[in-house]
Amino acid sequence: MIGSSFLCNICGSSAIFDPGENWREDATCQTCNSSVRSRQMAHCITSNILGRSVILSGLDLPHVQGIGLSDNSNLAHYLTRAFSYQNTYYHQEPLLDICRPSSRWIESVDFLLSSDVFEHVPSPVEKAFEGACKVLRPGGLLVLTVPCDARAQTTEHFPNVRNFRILDFESEWLLLGKTPEGAFEVHRDLIFHGGPGTTVELRFFSENHVIKLLEDAGFHDIRVHKESVPEFGIFPPHHEGLPITARK
Ligand SMILES: [Zn+2]
Repeated sequence: MIGSSFLCNICGSSAIFDPGENWREDATCQTCNSSVRSRQMAHCITSNILGRSVILSGLDLPHVQGIGLSDNSNLAHYLTRAFSYQNTYYHQEPLLDICRPSSRWIESVDFLLSSDVFEHVPSPVEKAFEGACKVLRPGGLLVLTVPCDARAQTTEHFPNVRNFRILDFESEWLLLGKTPEGAFEVHRDLIFHGGPGTTVELRFFSENHVIKLLEDAGFHDIRVHKESVPEFGIFPPHHEGLPITARK
């Protein structure tokens, strides 16, 4: 694995697999800086939509429509060229709140990418899975990653909190939360994705629970992608946050 050469399935360049400490996230394509996670996403899209895993940069399929939820900008750049693809956001246009998708998004796309988003959405998390199903056309494809492992149950870090704010208080990041009964809770030792003070992790999933949530939302053909694709530099990390595909 480490030191092996591969073709990046996003930009098409040859590269040497040489990750740093963060196997899944580090930029391991020396041309477009794609990570294992981004290349797994590209692999899941092309292998499910075309029936074979191919390089994104060689595709021109404007009849296939897709959206991402705050996708990595490099992956989004190549997806925009390959498909009729739009990246969407929670806080800026084009706006999409996956827990409550507005009518413009309902049954609007053939594929939806949600990479490390559902651990950040407010409870109840079921709403995000139901929203994902709503935006897809019948037969549409969801490609999902979340932090998950073989634990028996999903760990909700703040199970009583419905609304919250992140506060920078005396050099410490705090979560000030309000319960449905109106009581306040303060939590410290927060886990941020993307650097201190950014997006706080609200939960860590059980893989079996993710599959159950997908089934309950109306998905079928649910598959956890444990496969390596060495020719494309896809060497999955040890069973944490593997991509999952599902069909509406
Ligand atoms: Zn690349």
